Parts: sequence; structure tokens; C-alpha cells
Amino acid sequence: MATYAPLPVTFDHGQGAWLWDSDGNKYLDALSGVAVCGLGHAHPAVTQAICQQAEKLIHTSNIYGIAAQQTLAEKLTQLAGMDKAFFCNSGLEANETALKLARLYGHNKGIDNPVIVVTENSFHGRSIATLTATGNHKLKAGFEPLLPGFVRVPFNDMVALKEITSSYSDIVAILLEPVQGEGGINVPDDNYLPEVRQYCDDNGWLMMLDEIQTGMCRTGEWFAFQHNNIVPDVVTLAKGLGNGVPIGACLARGQAADTFTPGSHGSTFGGNPLACTAALAVIKTIEDNDLASRAQSLGARFLDGLHKQLDDCDQVVQIKSKGLMIGIELDQPCKELVKQALGGGLLINVTADNVVRLLPPMILTDEEADQIIDTVAELIRNLGQQQ
Ligand code: PLP
Repeated sequence: MATYAPLPVTFDHGQGAWLWDSDGNKYLDALSGVAVCGLGHAHPAVTQAICQQAEKLIHTSNIYGIAAQQTLAEKLTQLAGMDKAFFCNSGLEANETALKLARLYGHNKGIDNPVIVVTENSFHGRSIATLTATGNHKLKAGFEPLLPGFVRVPFNDMVALKEITSSYSDIVAILLEPVQGEGGINVPDDNYLPEVRQYCDDNGWLMMLDEIQTGMCRTGEWFAFQHNNIVPDVVTLAKGLGNGVPIGACLARGQAADTFTPGSHGSTFGGNPLACTAALAVIKTIEDNDLASRAQSLGARFLDGLHKQLDDCDQVVQIKSKGLMIGIELDQPCKELVKQALGGGLLINVTADNVVRLLPPMILTDEEADQIIDTVAELIRNLGQQQ
């Protein structure tokens, strides 16, 4: 079905930060399959783990014990400061889990019509519930009626959050991205997440963070909330968790972690031996190579290089970034840059119409980073000249 309008290229294989198309042309990947392949393509540790596991056992069912799932749950909850994990296969499923968890948490407290706070410009997925939670109106058009039980507030605005929610008595949770990805790489003020945390505590709401794009060290910490020294109640993950093997997770702590009971939620494939083994290999590789620090230093290199090359460029409104989530906001729509970059052997993305988005892998060399910076800066400058 025509849900995508793919670019005129088909990749055959990859290695590290590079992809080769079916004609043998080489491309530098500054998008990582949209924040998925943080370890680059065909990482030997992940490939080996998948191959060995596939020879042994791919799938059983969650009606039996799964050793790799147990190990992964222990590892992820320890890294995130959570207590329990639920595994699924994608980002939207992880968020769907969080939304169901919040509603059940509310019902358990005697709230019959629980309300969940969500933000403008957010992206949480494309199922009916996660689309309802999403803040992009274009994506929702034609899929009404969406769901009741949500209230929307501006992102990074505590005054508005307090004002809008003050007239609701049945709020049970807030769901938000610590850095908005699809919405244009929107990094909130340093005090925003701590203040949301405090407000959730004051009101007995669950603080639920969608770390699907930000998680797994993309921002330079395992999870973006760790930059702010807070701990949410619920965290959702997917994308970088399996480096391309589909896996999602919803982590929770405290009372939230004990909300589901047998039968309240489930997934046939979720947390199967193959996906969990891949995720364990991803985590071990990140740890062994200290890729969190590498994401930080590469992120600083990108920010510095892009500022040096683009600060005098009229059409650049601002450069926004957190680690390896990088957005260059232009004063005009710039979707054509994606095709132009492709023609020059570079994979980038444009989001929110006018934000050039880079989500490069954490295994990038300095030289590869500089090559991306140079090419992107040149494309943006040329865009200005064409106008
Ligand atoms: N949440 C965020 C923050 C995302 O960036 C995405 C995907 O881009 C999703 C949820 C949905 O993930 P998936 O496409 O795996 O359903």
C-alpha cells in the first residue's frame, strides 16, 4: 500500500556508517534508519548474536519462560532505574502499552474516565491511541473519530501545563518525549523535565517518557531523562534497542510497575529469544565501547562544525541538538535537500517541513562526521543561493 513515497534508491548491503545500493554506489548514512541503527549496519557483535540465536531458538511464546527476555529486562530496568519491563515489537506498541497502563492505573484508583496529558508537536505512533496522543494534525486527518481521554498542552511550557490541566480532575498521567524528534528536534529548557516531574508528584500523575527516539544513548546518556537527574515512572523504548531487529519495551517502576496482571496485556512476538538476544548484544556493544561518551563527543563535534560553517548563513534559523539528535531549522521548507543529499551520496532527513534532521550512528569516525557536516553545510548554503 502507498503509505510511503520511497526515494529512488534500493540498498543492497551496509557496513558501519555506509550503505551500498543495488548498482554498487556508496552512501554515508547520517540517518541510521531513523535513529534505529545506532551501531551502524551489519555490526559484527549483533550479527553474530542473531545468527547464533537463530540456530538455537527464534520463538517460543510468552506462555513459557524466556531466559534472554529475563536477562534483558534485568539489564534495561537497571540502566533506567525501573522495576519491570514489558516487551513488544515497535515504538507505537510500547506507547500503546504505556497508555493502557496509565488508564488501568487510573481505574485501580477509582477514576472511571482517566485523562492523559500529551503535548503539541509530539509524535508517539500511528495506531489509533498513539495517533490520538500525537500532536501533528496532518497525520490525524481522515482517521477520526480518535479517542477520548486526552488533553493537549504546549511542549516546554510549565505555565500552560498548569493552567490547562487545572480544570481536569481525572488526570492520571502525562506522556511526552524528553526531546521531540519528529516535531523538529525540540530540546526543552533544562528545568522543564524536573518541573514536570515535580508537578506529577504533587498531583499523583505518572510521568511517562517516550524515549523511543532519544533512548539507547542517542543523546549521550542511556536515556535522555538522565541529563536532568530525574526518574520517570514509565519509559518507552524501541528503535535503537535492537539496531534494526524489531523490539520495543515499556519499562515502569513503583506502583506503575505492578499495574498489569496476567491477562491485562500481551504480545505474541514481544520479547522473543531472537529479538532479546539482539538487544542484549546492542547493550553490551554500547557498554564495551563506551558509546554514550562517544555520542556526546560526536554530538559536540557536529554542533561546533555546523555552527562554524552555518552561523553566517541567512536561511539558518537555529541549530538544535542533544547528542546525536541534530536539527538545523531553516527559514523555508527544504524537503528537496533530502534528494539532493542522496544524489551526493548522503542520507539525511527533513522533519517538520523545515528542519534538516541528522541522526547518525554512534560508531561514526571523526572523518565521517566531518564529511557529513561539510556536505550538509554546502547543501544548505546552495539552497540559499538558489533562492
Ligand atoms: N515515538 C517516537 C518518539 C518516535 O520517534 C516514533 C517513531 O518515529 C514512535 C514513537 C513510533 O515508533 P514505531 O514507528 O516503531 O511505531
